[in-house]
Amino acid sequence: MIVLGLEGTAHTLGVGLNDGKFNVLADVRKSYAPKKGGIHPRDSSQHMVDNMRPALDAALEQAKLTMEDVDLIAFSQGPGLGPCLRTIATAARTLSLAYHKPVIGVNHCIAHIEVGNVLSGFKDPLVLYVSGANSQVIKLKDGRYRVFGETLDVGIGNMLDKFGREAGLSHPAGPKIEELARNGKNFIELPYVVKGTDLSFSGMLTAALQKFEKGVPLEDLCYSIQEISFAMLCEVTERALAHVKAKEVILTGGVGNNKRLQEMVRLVAEEHNAKFSFPAKYMGDNGVMIAMLGLKMHDAGVRMGIEDTVVKQSQRTDDIEVVW
Ligand code: AMP
Ligand code: MG
Repeated sequence: MIVLGLEGTAHTLGVGLNDGKFNVLADVRKSYAPKKGGIHPRDSSQHMVDNMRPALDAALEQAKLTMEDVDLIAFSQGPGLGPCLRTIATAARTLSLAYHKPVIGVNHCIAHIEVGNVLSGFKDPLVLYVSGANSQVIKLKDGRYRVFGETLDVGIGNMLDKFGREAGLSHPAGPKIEELARNGKNFIELPYVVKGTDLSFSGMLTAALQKFEKGVPLEDLCYSIQEISFAMLCEVTERALAHVKAKEVILTGGVGNNKRLQEMVRLVAEEHNAKFSFPAKYMGDNGVMIAMLGLKMHDAGVRMGIEDTVVKQSQRTDDIEVVW
């Protein structure tokens, strides 16, 4: 069985293929980088329109397959930016109808979790999911991925990207902040806001920008933003971990590429005698994770008609019944 996965919730058009046993056959990503400012939904969806055909061709070429060989088409149904989601859903429906293949819409956030599960072999982990728009601590309980804690305002990635943009770094700023942070020497105090297992990053963003305006060195700010925001993430992860007594911890999502965050979350897991893993090649948005979740759902008997493929811009992680 060959599964095609189409990702396109925000910035990256991803096309992935697997062999029906979670072995990756192709991984093609085309990321949209705004010339200035942040992600513009209309421009990003146009990027997806322009790149869909070449990305699909490249993925099939990588796997040495044709569309006739594909047995299932999975796509990211939500959450995400409306114009991007609609573009990807339209492509998925078109391929499904043109080639008479079943189509399945998957939740993007759960795909970030499941790729971690597949690659680590973990069965019941606590998950720290950190991306542009999302920052959540999640654990499967009673058939749903329950959100134990999350950001009350901006996602950690958006906070990093917004700070970077105002400080003159190009989008996405997360990786550049990681670089600059290595040369930070002085710890600058910034608001640390944790409420139970929830987080807030907007105060930190405002304070860091004010300090930048006043001439505090960018490297010091990058270093301090990372130390403080990552400590907040670790605090809520640890609180949830102590509560649910999980034996496995997974870090996933684009911000999880950050080496310092990986190091800090690993320490939290070790303190609690839990195993730690992250899907290293698949942290940021990609089609591989969409194909993996599509396969899991299909194996569990989930089927969708075209009428079920309407996009769900605000779909939540805990909206989905985990039947696989
Ligand atoms: P995603 O939507 O899961 O692809 O995640 C995208 C987010 O990850 C963006 O906000 C990026 O700035 C952020 N990101 C990617 N790499 C890093 C990194 N090395 N350190 C911090 N943030 C990162
Ligand atoms: Mg994502």
